[in-house]
Amino acid sequence: MNETLKTHGHRTSKQRLQRVNELLDDVGIHNKKQILKSYPHQLTPGILQRIMIAAAISCDPLLLIADEPTTSLDLSDQIQIMDMLSQLVDDRNMSLILISHDFNLLSEKTDQLTLMYCGQVIESGPTKELINSPKHPYTEALLASVPSRWDVEHKQPVPTLKGSTPSLFHLPVGCYLGPRCPNASAKCVKPPPLTRSTIHHVRCHFPIDSDEKIIRPSVTAS
Ligand code: SF4
Repeated sequence: MNETLKTHGHRTSKQRLQRVNELLDDVGIHNKKQILKSYPHQLTPGILQRIMIAAAISCDPLLLIADEPTTSLDLSDQIQIMDMLSQLVDDRNMSLILISHDFNLLSEKTDQLTLMYCGQVIESGPTKELINSPKHPYTEALLASVPSRWDVEHKQPVPTLKGSTPSLFHLPVGCYLGPRCPNASAKCVKPPPLTRSTIHHVRCHFPIDSDEKIIRPSVTAS
């Protein structure tokens, strides 16, 4: 944090120390004297994550990119870190790009969702709409693989798509999901474009309609 602030114009060490203390306050760290004297290995994962976030906001960014910010934290730290990030976003009028595999977290903390497969955007739109009526088969499969409490209690197997994500060096011809997609047909050997509606975009030749039926060209035409 000290080095970042030095590079970005906080000239004296006194100025920098004051700013570091303010930033630690912002991320909810109170025993600052002790923390500032500690090595990273002496601190808990939750405190380390708070310090990383303090460093990331030290130059007052308009946009913060948080890549899996709660991975490897216990549940209580996860909740605290996400509540703190939400508070920082509100207080600083800052935008947040949250990168995560956790649908529960994304549904609670985001307004817009963009899903990617093999480095391509496959679906994007308002979080609520996308989760309630996914249009891409991969989004639908991801949502189906989130176990419910009932599934856990009854030890139900998690539904998954066949196969696994291909190597980026050996991508399938046409749609990248083709070999794994339950809805694939001959047209899918051509790369699907990202079709854009006003708010909900999808990359699929046969997007799922809201009644969870596949829209084939013949159906659309009739
Ligand atoms: S384009 Fe075809 S293979 Fe790709 S997701 Fe859509 S239906 Fe499946």
